[in-house]
Amino acid sequence: MVRSNVPIHPSRMSLDQVEALWQADGDTPLPECTYDPDLHTGPRATIETTAERAARESVARDVCSTCPARALCGLYALTVRPASGIWAGHTPAELAAYDAMPVLGVAS
Ligand code: SF4
Repeated sequence: MVRSNVPIHPSRMSLDQVEALWQADGDTPLPECTYDPDLHTGPRATIETTAERAARESVARDVCSTCPARALCGLYALTVRPASGIWAGHTPAELAAYDAMPVLGVAS
């Protein structure tokens, strides 16, 4: 089996994985992105144009904005440092700029 250090996006996790990786317990909210994983990670079988990617990421950010798991997702993303995708409403580059922010989505 080939193992990867690439972090699993919440959209592709099972609820058991969410609870284990986020060290949450029985009240863990189900990530909203599990209903359409490609929205947050991009299509696997096609190549997007720049405009298509921007539009997809905009919708993904909207989904994140109301996701009950956003805070846990953001903390996890800051730990695993993803290289792609939208995590808690942010790209990896945006996450890198939030090093000092304890909880994403909370205005400072
Ligand atoms: S905040 Fe966004 S990326 Fe994170 S679990 Fe929720 S929908 Fe998925």
